[in-house]
Amino acid sequence: MKVLILAGDGIGPEIVGQAEKVLDFVAKKHALNISVDRALIGGIAVDETGHPFPAETLEKAKAADAILLGSVGGPKYDLLPRNIRPEQGLLAIRKELNLFANLRPAQVFKELSHASSLKDELVAGLDIMIVRELTGDIYFGQPRGIEERNGERVGFNTMIYSESEIRRIAHVAFQAAQKRNKRLCSIDKMNVLEATQLWRDVVTEVAAEYPDVELTHLLVDNAAMQLVRAPKQFDVMLTGNIFGDILSDEASMLTGSIGMLPSASLDENNKGLYEPIHGSAPDIAGKDIANPLATILSVGMMFRYSFNRNDIADEIENAVKTVLSQGFRTKDIATKDEKVIGCKAMGEAVLAALNA
Ligand code: NAD
Repeated sequence: MKVLILAGDGIGPEIVGQAEKVLDFVAKKHALNISVDRALIGGIAVDETGHPFPAETLEKAKAADAILLGSVGGPKYDLLPRNIRPEQGLLAIRKELNLFANLRPAQVFKELSHASSLKDELVAGLDIMIVRELTGDIYFGQPRGIEERNGERVGFNTMIYSESEIRRIAHVAFQAAQKRNKRLCSIDKMNVLEATQLWRDVVTEVAAEYPDVELTHLLVDNAAMQLVRAPKQFDVMLTGNIFGDILSDEASMLTGSIGMLPSASLDENNKGLYEPIHGSAPDIAGKDIANPLATILSVGMMFRYSFNRNDIADEIENAVKTVLSQGFRTKDIATKDEKVIGCKAMGEAVLAALNA
């Protein structure tokens, strides 16, 4: 198993450092042959090579089985031309590796349900997985542009999905549902958009191959409403790129803990890029106060989805639950009466829980 580590900018090196300790620990414990390589991405890559996604990083990323990424960006780079901003590194790696399936869990750990903007009883125990198509839809469709028509400017984009694009992401979602509570809700806007009528038709066809998974469909506006009305009704939600962009942010904010949420972006062979959903948090970088748990949980997802080791993924998730129940909190998830520890100490607490 070849893992490439891209620590990136801001708090990236701090949080990835703790996640790497967890990776080392489980590799030794289970006698796994994991080789780790490192490369540059984002602002640090701009500083050292002039480009946010250097050719050497692409080579190493292609050779890896899985990639662990910290975060990229920061105010230092805000004035750079758009094509060499750190975020371009992220877009480039997703595109170059054809990472079309984005998996974003929104999970509320019971000790943290008070952090949500919704009432405790609505979110306690919440555990949703959003499967978002990441390389198609209106973001990439042609034609697109802004042009002069009839004496005024007109802006336009094209929502487009091919049958094969829908089919491959539907398989990912059904298989994710099989590993969970076997319920899949597919999101579309078939009442007005033909592209999403096809989406619904193809997802329904694929369902025939997964008789153990219960499939439902919801229009996107209703889905947005249901997510804040009764989010626990969902198990896996399947969406196209633009609807998923919005709904996955809505779902993650229900948890109230941006420092807790991991993500995976997978290709057709389950090679994956794993990263926390948060950014580089420049306001707290270098202070040893960042929460490393989202990155540690991203390592858990790596074992679940790229290495097919649900047992190790469960071990890591259980270790995180243990440290929360022991009362350990980084600053972002602490309430007044709890003991606040730093990034390194949180990493050590997870190692201790894994060791117990
Ligand atoms: P952010 O997620 O970096 O930070 C938002 C807030 O959450 C900040 O107050 C931050 O301190 C806090 N926070 C985030 N992660 C935390 C953690 N692990 N522990 C404790 N607190 C945490 O979002 P932003 O401030 O809008 O963006 C900062 C930079 O990150 C920008 O340059 C942006 O482009 C970049 N960004 C990168 C990614 C990525 O790498 N995938 C994603 C989003 C934003």
